Amino acid sequence: MCVKQWAEGADTAPMGLYDLHQRNQINATRHSLSTTQSEVMDQRRRSENEIAALEQRVERLTMLCEAMWELVGQTTGLTGEHLARMVDQLDARDGERNRSHTPGATQCGCGAMVNARVTHCQFCGEAAPARSLFDMI
Ligand SMILES: [Zn+2]
Repeated sequence: MCVKQWAEGADTAPMGLYDLHQRNQINATRHSLSTTQSEVMDQRRRSENEIAALEQRVERLTMLCEAMWELVGQTTGLTGEHLARMVDQLDARDGERNRSHTPGATQCGCGAMVNARVTHCQFCGEAAPARSLFDMI
């Protein structure tokens, strides 16, 4: 069947045109897949770099905390047991002993419960009730 017969109402396209169309679609799909894989690899590299930077930051903060604790211990006489007890108390404040402290919501003057992570009531706009600076991290 030639192109002219197909254009005049034949039921099927000539195999040559159909094959060409399929080949173009396959090539377009391959190109799109290649681009997507490249984008995924770029995002993965960025994420790995961000994770490495965060790990370094945590290590520096840990060392800073240890240094501060050493100074506090040397100047006040507080011990590791005092620190462990305080950690347990803080851990229990949110109602769960899970080695994580999740600050709870507090009640605004308008009666709405205000999330610990916001600075103003989402309903009336008043400044959120005073909290510990650590709750705002
Ligand atoms: Zn309010």
